[in-house]
Amino acid sequence: MAGLRQTIIRGGLESLFFSGAYLALAPFVSGVGAILTLHHVRPARPGRFQPNRLLEVTPTFLSRVVAYLRRSDLDLVSLDEMHRRLSEGDFRRRFVCLTFDDGYRDTLAHAYPILKQAGVPFAIYVATSFPDRLGELWWLALEAVIARNDRVALEIDGQCRSFDCGTVEEKRALYDELYWWLRSRPTEAELRAIVRNLAACYNVDIAAFCRDLCMGWEELAQLAADPLVTIGAHTVSHPMLAKLPAEAARSEMDLSRSVIEAALLVRPQHFAYPVGDPSAAGRREFKIAAGLGFKTAVTTRPGVLVPGHREQLTALPRISLNGEYQRLRYVRVLLSGAGTAMWNRFRRHPETDISDQASEPHAA
Ligand SMILES: [Zn+2]
Repeated sequence: MAGLRQTIIRGGLESLFFSGAYLALAPFVSGVGAILTLHHVRPARPGRFQPNRLLEVTPTFLSRVVAYLRRSDLDLVSLDEMHRRLSEGDFRRRFVCLTFDDGYRDTLAHAYPILKQAGVPFAIYVATSFPDRLGELWWLALEAVIARNDRVALEIDGQCRSFDCGTVEEKRALYDELYWWLRSRPTEAELRAIVRNLAACYNVDIAAFCRDLCMGWEELAQLAADPLVTIGAHTVSHPMLAKLPAEAARSEMDLSRSVIEAALLVRPQHFAYPVGDPSAAGRREFKIAAGLGFKTAVTTRPGVLVPGHREQLTALPRISLNGEYQRLRYVRVLLSGAGTAMWNRFRRHPETDISDQASEPHAA
């Protein structure tokens, strides 16, 4: 299913590009700016089973995107400047913000040198349990269980089920099935308990992903010291907030800001909802973020920014630089607004359709 979905999306992006339709559509859908979402930036790795590859782009691709943005007629701005322009209605020039979710070590190792050299501001949204080494990158634990075994058994809806996953095709299909089944669990606690149990059964150390892949506080401090870098909050434990009771969701958001402030001596003014699609963040969370005084908060709902977003600064859409679509021409189509307009079926008024926009797969 994921493969088919990717083929359709890629086909749509290709046809918008090669037909030139994205240029014709741009004046109507391009909005006033865009926020780009990135996760990992690291060299491509060998291996055919990489279900989370959509969350990573190569340093070479990032360099090409930055060079393209630099020669485009738009401004690369910080989240504070984006907030100013949206609040004041200063739309004289189109703008783009770069954002990195989760606080991976490769942001420092691979993305930072490229952005520093080009003088591009960017933001990192930190889930504080990651530098505290208590985070559970459950989507990677699931990948490891399936990658390292030819057969995986677990209890689904009260029944013990066993799956063959000896071939790459079987692994891909099983990852997809289990990932979305886990995402559909009614509570985050249930999701975590199942993955913890699965990891224990198959000797996968969940804590290792956090330790190996995420920046510690010293590394984050290095970045926070650079005026190009904005540190944003991204909860403590990286849950789908909409699946938590309201008070717990509020604490996750508020506490992550306090922990970052205590560790880095900067108080985050901006927030990103973990996972960020409608199953993870909705009206309740947008209100909580506004109530907590965050200047802006971003989702992973796909879209460009329009003037109406000044009325909903804690429910901003973003455009993902998806590792499955590392072509400059796709970025051109996405930034024109045509790609996400197609995705959102040309509904233009975010005030009225924020609740039912399409979401991206595997958003972390
Ligand atoms: Zn995240």
